[in-house]
Amino acid sequence: MQIKEYYDVIIVGAGPGGSITAKTIANANLSVLLIEKRQEIGDPVRCAEAVGKDTLEKHIQPNPRWICAYIKGMDIYSPDGTKVEMKENDGGNEVGFVLDRKIFDRALVHDAAIIGAEVRVKARATDLIIENDTVCGVKIMHFGNEFEVRSKIVIGADGVESKVGRWAGINTAIKPSEIETCVQYLVSGIDIDQNICKFYVGNKSAPNGYVWIFPKGDGLANVGVGILGSKSGEKRAIDYLNEFMKQQLPNGKIIEIVIGGVPVSGPIKRTIANGLMLVGDAARQSDPITGGGIINAMDAGLIAGEVAINAIKKQDVSVNALEEYEKRWRLTIGREIANSLIIKKAFTKFTDNNLNELAHSLYGVDLFNIGIMNLLSKLFKVNKKLLWDIRELIKEYTKNEVENNILNLNNQT
Ligand code: FAD
Repeated sequence: MQIKEYYDVIIVGAGPGGSITAKTIANANLSVLLIEKRQEIGDPVRCAEAVGKDTLEKHIQPNPRWICAYIKGMDIYSPDGTKVEMKENDGGNEVGFVLDRKIFDRALVHDAAIIGAEVRVKARATDLIIENDTVCGVKIMHFGNEFEVRSKIVIGADGVESKVGRWAGINTAIKPSEIETCVQYLVSGIDIDQNICKFYVGNKSAPNGYVWIFPKGDGLANVGVGILGSKSGEKRAIDYLNEFMKQQLPNGKIIEIVIGGVPVSGPIKRTIANGLMLVGDAARQSDPITGGGIINAMDAGLIAGEVAINAIKKQDVSVNALEEYEKRWRLTIGREIANSLIIKKAFTKFTDNNLNELAHSLYGVDLFNIGIMNLLSKLFKVNKKLLWDIRELIKEYTKNEVENNILNLNNQT
């Protein structure tokens, strides 16, 4: 089917961020074009595919078709092998999922398509159309033909390698010290607990990053490593992963490989321009500690979709009107990211000894219910300077606690 000449909104990139934006806008009966440069949605996968249950359920009902493993807890291993467990108190219940993103991403696009979004695969954005300092469309290469398609708003949801922001004059550059270089194997034939995600930290196994084992059902697991780009030198991420495989999973059979980068810089300064919003990895909205970006991209996509609807109704797509997007996501996703950045910066100063000491003091502790003050006191014992490094976070936390207590008191009276 031919691409039309004009849509209310064009979205570049059919990952989780782009799909949720498309669904939100199509739901308001506006015309939406969602373009994806690949021929298959979600393939190749560049992800370890883990998400939290509650956060995912805000967007889509969990479906066994795209869930590979039901996660009930996490084990974190310090450099000397001490295990710290995080499990829900009531046992039994799952706290997250390991997805099959090939099916999940396609299901999200399908949801957007059935309510009216037009989807085109093998359709690559090659540039933006900018007139009077306002983005008003996209140049698209589709099956060898390049043509211009106009719109009131363009959403750049084109992932970590985003070009849309740059075309609009937004600085999206990130340094090697702000990106995790990741390699992951899909490993078969291993006997692991299919309900537990495992993390291994330490400068020897993954400098400024971590190794993960995420179960994928049927004796399969995503086994990967992420290291800070600036730490990749003589030893690359793949060397760390091969060493880990040799030591921990010598009998595992590697049946797929994933290579990719995760921005851990924290968000860029500006995610809007006249007629344009950036969403998800394109806006560097992934979590600086975990590298997780699926849910943040979906949350941002929902906000961007709602703001686009309002702006189009008011016939104002200027940065002033789109400022609502900037404000809303920074107050929600942005806050979480800012907190993670503070913790990440503090933790990068931890030596392997510090990590071991911390793990020893947390051994046998119920991390889900430890309480922040208790956790801080344990951290303080291990590294006194840490409290100073994360003072802004503690201030913010204490302020919120006081506000919540006042709210509770008011509700009781
Ligand atoms: P993407 O999912 O990257 O989608 C962007 C889409 O835009 C792509 O399909 C791309 O083909 C398309 N595109 C790009 N340019 C163009 C163009 N010019 N024209 C048309 N289409 C274009 N996150 C988690 O939450 N949990 C994890 O366990 C996790 N593990 C990860 C492991 C690895 C190894 C990596 C690399 C990342 C991991 N992430 C994880 C991060 C997660 O994959 C991303 O944060 C998430 O996919 C971001 O979604 P998005 O919609 O912003 O972008």
